[in-house]
Amino acid sequence: MIVVMKSKVTQEQLDCVQKRLREWGFEIHLSQGVERTIIGAIGEKRPEVIQSLESMDAVEKVVPILKPYKLAGREFKQVSTQVRVGDAVFGGQEIVVLAGPCAVEDREQMLSVARSVKAAGAKILRGGAYKPRTSPYAFQGLEEEGLKLLKEAREETGLAVVTEVVNPRDVELVVEYTDMVQIGARNMQNFTLLKEVGKARKPVLLKRGLAATIEEWLMAAEYIMSEGNYEIVLCERGIRTYETSTRNTLDVSAIPIVKQLSHLPIVSDPSHASGKRALVAPLSCASVAAGADGLIIEVHPNPECALSDGPQSLTPAEFEDVLNMIRPVAAAVGRSL
Ligand code: PEP
Ligand code: MN
Repeated sequence: MIVVMKSKVTQEQLDCVQKRLREWGFEIHLSQGVERTIIGAIGEKRPEVIQSLESMDAVEKVVPILKPYKLAGREFKQVSTQVRVGDAVFGGQEIVVLAGPCAVEDREQMLSVARSVKAAGAKILRGGAYKPRTSPYAFQGLEEEGLKLLKEAREETGLAVVTEVVNPRDVELVVEYTDMVQIGARNMQNFTLLKEVGKARKPVLLKRGLAATIEEWLMAAEYIMSEGNYEIVLCERGIRTYETSTRNTLDVSAIPIVKQLSHLPIVSDPSHASGKRALVAPLSCASVAAGADGLIIEVHPNPECALSDGPQSLTPAEFEDVLNMIRPVAAAVGRSL
């Protein structure tokens, strides 16, 4: 439930309400807006508790949260959340572009791609050090060595970095090296992993599962938030449908739906959604037009030699062209890039 406090409430009154809630066994999540303070209270809402709360001077009203996701929903927080990663702000006026290779392969590849995506306008460098591949025989990533190369690229270019974590026991290490941690589609319902990144104090890029409904996806965000980490950016990366002409089907409608249901920012991944280089530009334009707060695009200095996801990776020159195509679309919907 949500406990909406009166507009002029003292710290003492706020402390008092929180203390009572804790005594009744509620877990508390505070949202302090400009106008009002709202307390998200997760626990069993018994009628006598609601009555008692409503009789308190500092309390304006008590509202039940009807959706299964409590903290991730607009019922709890009406104002859209902004998530800052380095110089980039997700959920603001600007479209944030994250770009880089699918996998970190070597120093030369990372440094050269970092320089070129930065020059084209990307704010965050991506690159997988732990690769959850469909086949156990495919390249699995450089692991800590890859994290070191990402860090080096960040130091050289000033770009923030995002990388995927696949194992709960690696969360601490990955957090140390990066500015944002990615939960991949295959791990969207790895609840142990979600709880672990929930304990970390690092923004999370939470990809939608291959066959996850929007509600299941928001429940995954809820897992992270329930541990106290509210800095989540959702990522629509295509879902499994009967269509075989693309790797996945980009669910464009998920973008405005998520905006209605949740206050969290959302980005789109046209690379994994389509699996095809030629579709990255049109799907990027569609995503921005539909209200996406950012795009994550795979770029490789030499896609034919990429150790993973070459067919969907853009060359640096193609990436620059795609960003130039998106700019007028962003402007048409009141955003910049
Ligand atoms: C990736 O970003 O390289 C990746 C593996 O993506 P997804 O989890 O969406 O398949
Ligand atoms: Mn990939």
